[in-house]
Amino acid sequence: MSTKPSIPLHRQVPDERGFFGKFGGSFIPPELQAQMDEINAAYQRVSRSADYIAELRRIRRDYQGRPTPVSYCGRLSDKIGGARIYLKREDLNHSGAHKLNHCMGEALLAKYLGKKKLIAETGAGQHGVALATAGAYFGIPVEIHMGEVDIAKEHPNVVRMRILGATVVPVSFGARTLKEAVDSAFQSYLKDPVNSIYCIGSVVGPHPFPLMVREFQRVVGIEAREQFVGMTGGLPDSVVACVGGGSNAMGIFSGFLDDPVELHGVEPLGRGAAPGDHAASLSHGSEGVMHGFNSIMLKDGKGEPAAVYSVASGLDYPSVGPEHAYLNSIGRTVVGTATDEEAIRAFFQLSRLEGIIPALESAHAVAYAVKLARQRPARSILVNLSGRGDKDIDFVMEKYARYAELEY
Ligand SMILES: *Cc1c(COP(=O)(O)O)cnc(C)c1O
Repeated sequence: MSTKPSIPLHRQVPDERGFFGKFGGSFIPPELQAQMDEINAAYQRVSRSADYIAELRRIRRDYQGRPTPVSYCGRLSDKIGGARIYLKREDLNHSGAHKLNHCMGEALLAKYLGKKKLIAETGAGQHGVALATAGAYFGIPVEIHMGEVDIAKEHPNVVRMRILGATVVPVSFGARTLKEAVDSAFQSYLKDPVNSIYCIGSVVGPHPFPLMVREFQRVVGIEAREQFVGMTGGLPDSVVACVGGGSNAMGIFSGFLDDPVELHGVEPLGRGAAPGDHAASLSHGSEGVMHGFNSIMLKDGKGEPAAVYSVASGLDYPSVGPEHAYLNSIGRTVVGTATDEEAIRAFFQLSRLEGIIPALESAHAVAYAVKLARQRPARSILVNLSGRGDKDIDFVMEKYARYAELEY
């Protein structure tokens, strides 16, 4: 045994300025920096208090329904004839996805700080719905900024947010989608940072958000590791998760970073590798700053964030959480992809063979796991099933009905 103290990787990063190697940090105007410093100081203080920890644990157990189970996919594994595939069932977390894990943590922090309003942007509406859920639970008003184009496209989520009591602010400038929604939400937050708090939806944005959101999602990895060892007597060979901003992937990866386990992040390859046809930032991007942090991003000819596309709207983001850029740069993670078509097939495959309708985002991870299982028989693969697919069923049957006729 070595006597050298070994500090687990996840305890080493980020540094006190929020850098994971050269990635991350905080690249924002001074007035916003002062607010981020305050949120960081509050997070460092409050999240270590016994009261906060006890309340978050109770919420996770009694309200969210945690721990979520790990399920073995017997029929899918037999059909592929390769490795054994297991799912960490974040689709069974309250509100149907992993996003509530960090929204409850952020909203609980807001409660301890006496904040009167939760502010966020949303693209497809998933983060908006999760935050609206947390706001209703704690009785804190929620203001969600959303581009007019997305409001028209994502009607059911807009309705959900309104039923849950959130105010949806339509954003009518620029391209009227996610980027403008971020700008609008930050403007609103800066008008009254004392009484409000900004709640980011993934492991992105300026320090301390990539750290905070990872820590809130880490419960997924801790539970999954314990459950998997309990079920099988050992560790999985591979852990697989889809990567949009990267929160569900960082959550499950955190539980296995110090283990001899391959970690695979799956990016959306959409219609193919041509610019504008995908959102595979780590696979096809280069270093750059966007939304206040340094990472690997997809740029257009002018160096601005590129237009991106994926069938899964939760994955179409032109950058990626800085910790993913870092872990990939040191070779700790493997970056893979799945196309729209592969994700749609996996969506039906999991539905038909296991009785589980996955979110289209999560279907990317399943599609990749199926490819991996064929290449590496006699292995075990644990997939983070980040969410359920109820939100996607109308879209899938309108656009991809022919896949419903196939044999799986
Ligand atoms: C939002 C979302 C994602 C993508 O976000 P990450 O931060 O990359 O995890 C994945 N799956 C589901 C179900 C989502 O709602």
